[in-house]
Amino acid sequence: MGAALDRLGIDRSMLVDVMPRVEPDRVRLHVAPAWFVRLWAKGIAAVTTPWGVYVHPDTADRFATDRDDALGLLMVHELMHVEQLARLGVLAHSIQYMTDYLRGRAKRLGHWESYRRVRLEVEARAAASLVRDRIEGATPQ
Ligand SMILES: [Zn+2]
Repeated sequence: MGAALDRLGIDRSMLVDVMPRVEPDRVRLHVAPAWFVRLWAKGIAAVTTPWGVYVHPDTADRFATDRDDALGLLMVHELMHVEQLARLGVLAHSIQYMTDYLRGRAKRLGHWESYRRVRLEVEARAAASLVRDRIEGATPQ
């Protein structure tokens, strides 16, 4: 993941305080195999597992041609899930994630709204927003 961050222009020093447990060079980045993608809800760009970050093949294609901030921030978002896994452990992470999601569904919220309200997703989005602000603050206008 370290090389991908470098190529996407994400300075690792911007991540250290946000995700102190993550060593980007030790996080493996994979293109998700077709069977795995079939399990994903439509619209998912990447999934983080204890074995690494899996990106959708369409997202992987964009890595080859694009160098946009959105891809870099997607990687920051996924790295925040790596941080959460390191902080909570796989079991507690899974339980908290599913509990939040099901709480949303129990309130009759739709799939995406329930997903959006999962606290671990809120935290991952906040990490990406913080890094985006740092990139914008560091870039001469
Ligand atoms: Zn997420």
